[in-house]
Amino acid sequence: MMRAMLTLYKGDCEHCHHTYRYTIWDARFGQYSYAYCDTCGMLATLFYSSEAVEQLPRSAANYREIDAAWEPLLTPCACGGHFKKGASPRCVHCKQPLSAEYAAVHIMRNVKGAKNWRWQGNWKDRFCMAISDPRNFGNLRHMVDPVPDLEEADDSDAESDSGSFLGLQR
Ligand SMILES: [Zn+2]
Ligand SMILES: [Zn+2]
Repeated sequence: MMRAMLTLYKGDCEHCHHTYRYTIWDARFGQYSYAYCDTCGMLATLFYSSEAVEQLPRSAANYREIDAAWEPLLTPCACGGHFKKGASPRCVHCKQPLSAEYAAVHIMRNVKGAKNWRWQGNWKDRFCMAISDPRNFGNLRHMVDPVPDLEEADDSDAESDSGSFLGLQR
């Protein structure tokens, strides 16, 4: 199961039919909530162990998409869009929101070795999707803890360029 999670899978966009590469992360395993940018679909993860994230109001449910109460408290995405509950990952080519139902076909095909795992079929429960940047292969479109630093502004919330596909690096 975990080994399957370390792979970049191939998916296709139902709008423009181009392919993209992605990985699926487990918010419970990684101990975070997540959200997608409402404009470019970038994934943001908000780690519960982060001091900045600890300042946010308690959310109704953990290990899934963010509580709507967090939305106005987050820093904007690098593209100028906002991380919102209910937003979807987007195709890196045509920028259209990806259908969770359509993606279910390749997600389940790609993880066929993981017997006891089933895709949740939506963009809000335990598993989230990080998509590889087509201009920088292997670099996932992902921001870590997009929360203003209360002490002083620094750049540590900038886009992650991690080589780890588990989303655990800080
Ligand atoms: Zn597309
Ligand atoms: Zn964005």
